[in-house]
Amino acid sequence: MSTTTARTPRGRQFFANPGPTNIPDSILKAVAHVSIDFNDPAFLTVYDGVVAGLKRILKTQHEIFLYTGSGHAAWEAALVNLFSAGDALLVIETGHFSESWGKMAQDFGLEIRTLAADWRRGADFAALRAMLAADSAHAIKAICAVQNETATGMELSIAEIRAALDATGHPAMLLVDTISSLGSLDFRMDDWGVDVAVGGSQKGLMLPTGLSFTGVSPKAMAAHKTSRLPKSYLNWTNMLTRRHKSFIGTVPTSLFYGLQESIRLLEEEGLDQVFARHARLAEAVRRCVRHWSGNNGPQLFCLAPDRFSNSVTAVQMPEGHNAEDIRRIALGTFNVSLGGGLGRLGGKVFRIGHLGDLNEPMILGTLATVEASMRVAGVPHTPGGVNAAIDYLADQARAA
Ligand SMILES: *Cc1c(COP(=O)(O)O)cnc(C)c1O
Repeated sequence: MSTTTARTPRGRQFFANPGPTNIPDSILKAVAHVSIDFNDPAFLTVYDGVVAGLKRILKTQHEIFLYTGSGHAAWEAALVNLFSAGDALLVIETGHFSESWGKMAQDFGLEIRTLAADWRRGADFAALRAMLAADSAHAIKAICAVQNETATGMELSIAEIRAALDATGHPAMLLVDTISSLGSLDFRMDDWGVDVAVGGSQKGLMLPTGLSFTGVSPKAMAAHKTSRLPKSYLNWTNMLTRRHKSFIGTVPTSLFYGLQESIRLLEEEGLDQVFARHARLAEAVRRCVRHWSGNNGPQLFCLAPDRFSNSVTAVQMPEGHNAEDIRRIALGTFNVSLGGGLGRLGGKVFRIGHLGDLNEPMILGTLATVEASMRVAGVPHTPGGVNAAIDYLADQARAA
């Protein structure tokens, strides 16, 4: 008779995925709202307050359109509302998500020009300037940029992209995916001259999946007026005729009660404190991984320290070891959910999400469990990475 039996999970699952993320109890309670007519004055008050709050989080005064759909719906809304078949877009390559947005644009008959980049080092802004300067005919209608590439754990400076547009006097619109950065990393739609900011509910905003949105500048609204790609449910002009200025059909009211609570939580802590907490936990993760990397252990995937993401860390496995083994053991044996490698990084990296509703014990528990999983899987590493994280977090607490 076998002495090994499958474990029955007890306690909370530690959810260290970079999306969806942990949903705070108060948000879970808020979304458990009875049905309400979306034109009920009580709901309209909540709705208008949420839209105003979302503008504060995006740091914008511009229009916001919301969609019942995941981030992909907002990606699609940005494309179909702005462009006509054959328009050229410049996609800044960051990883799986920049590729996917670009492929979606190709599906709509748009021409994609890519600023190619090494996924471990990130795009070269001098090359971006050169590409914009070379486009003297201004064929490029927009730049698509992913602020936080969730697949690689790297941040792209939106201010640098704005600077490249300004320096070359190029009139292209700037479209930014903030799906895994909003509410975790600083984002300033208006200061950075962003024309369309794409966001989603289930990452830094700590909500269930199913709500996404776009902030839209006046310049983008003007481009919308002449765009000819087919659109109906996602058409901004149609939306503007509605009381909610969004949503052609039923409004997902529960998610608005959740978003009201999410905005309350973020503003109660203070956005700058939220960003500082993300930076602190992210640095603890990186110190831990650097420690493990000795003895031919796993490495930080990102090789450009000034571009480390503070919301997700991708960890590159040593040659000959599969990241899926670590994920399977972490989940099956220890009930910790990690992110896997996406696209061409499948099996090569695992990802630790450290965004949203997260604190020191949750991240230390996750790191300890990854280390235990490496032992179980026989993956080489220098033991004691968690101690490097403890040292850092204790120093930070003492200095505070
Ligand atoms: C998760 C994510 C998406 C996709 O959003 P969905 O809600 O899964 O459709 C797009 N971009 C980035 C950067 C993401 O992290």
